[in-house]
Amino acid sequence: MTQSPAYAAQAADKPLAFHAIPRRAPGPRDVAIDISHCGVCHSDLHTARSEWGGTLYPCVPGHEIVGTVTAVGKDVKKFKVGETVGVGCLVGSCGHCSACAEGLENYCENGFVGTYNGPATAAEGGHTFGGYSTHIVVDEGFVLNIRHKGNLAAVAPLLCAGITTYSPLKHWKAGPGKTVGIVGLGGLGHMGVKLAHALGARVALFTTSPGKEADAKRLGADDVIISKDAKQMAKQANRFDLIVNTVAAPHNLDVFLNLLKRDGTMCLVGAPATPHPSTQVFNLIFKRRALAGSLIGGIPETQEMLDFCAERGIVSDIETIAMRDINTAYERMLKSDVKYRFVIDMQTLKDEAKAA
Ligand code: NAP
Ligand code: ZN
Repeated sequence: MTQSPAYAAQAADKPLAFHAIPRRAPGPRDVAIDISHCGVCHSDLHTARSEWGGTLYPCVPGHEIVGTVTAVGKDVKKFKVGETVGVGCLVGSCGHCSACAEGLENYCENGFVGTYNGPATAAEGGHTFGGYSTHIVVDEGFVLNIRHKGNLAAVAPLLCAGITTYSPLKHWKAGPGKTVGIVGLGGLGHMGVKLAHALGARVALFTTSPGKEADAKRLGADDVIISKDAKQMAKQANRFDLIVNTVAAPHNLDVFLNLLKRDGTMCLVGAPATPHPSTQVFNLIFKRRALAGSLIGGIPETQEMLDFCAERGIVSDIETIAMRDINTAYERMLKSDVKYRFVIDMQTLKDEAKAA
């Protein structure tokens, strides 16, 4: 065991603060990673504040991790010291159920191990600690190759925001000839716009923030619709093959279901702490529309998405922050005041630890 400097919440109503956590010595299949950057996902905030319930404390969030391999176990085949790698939302799964057999570890029948708030040995602290820390040790099966050149900070959000939008876009076949709506221009939403555009779909962004219109177009949206404007929304009726809804708060889903064509699907990826109001069944049955959900993505698809983005130079639009500014960043995220993902420069935590 070694100690890693980290930032943790000690309770749901406490801000995150400096805290040292244990990290295991790399076992035969493990990769030890020096973390350079970690993205800030809205799920981090939901978890740190136990908005979904069940948060174990101390809670060290962070599942958009990039860094450099510092050591590998003797059985590790895929990674070498010095390589640039990533870790997303998963660090383990059963490995033998039907979902794992298909590379869908995110839907593991026996429960995947989350990068934070998942099960871990007592020596490791009893539950997993995420990427708001200087290093992490992960089974090689859950480590991703990063082939992007240059700015690594902007690659970090692909590990959650990227795969969470890529997976439903691929599953529901977003591409040329398809009209795709993305709801909410936050961390997930802005990646959804970029990826749907890169896949060749016609893309509309639905936003509650009129100020985001120009950015949405720059990111790849063909149309931008202010979702609070009933007139603008009425013009979009029956147009969409797929809508990916990233909103982190409960809202009226019917206004979006009405925009789907016959056989269209709205996929929810946003995970509000309290339920959405129930939808009108008639909005579904009259046009055989579907309301669906999707959870991040499996390891093979995450690697596919990273390679897709590396080939096309796709990264996230980010604002880099120091670790000590995380609590302010959370407040800004709640006001939709981030363009479009905060990413923590982990050097700031290393410096803070040295000075302590
Ligand atoms: P985020 O950066 O805060 O973005 C959410 C966006 O939703 C905001 O930028 C805003 O966009 C819109 N929004 C916020 N409050 C709203 C409200 N009251 N009414 C309507 N729109 C509102 O969050 P994120 O990191 O993208 O995460 C979004 C959600 O996805 C969170 O609930 C997170 O936990 C969840 N998530 C799910 C998965 C999964 O696997 N399914 C993975 C990661 C995250 P506009 O300003 O454009 O309206
Ligand atoms: Zn996330």
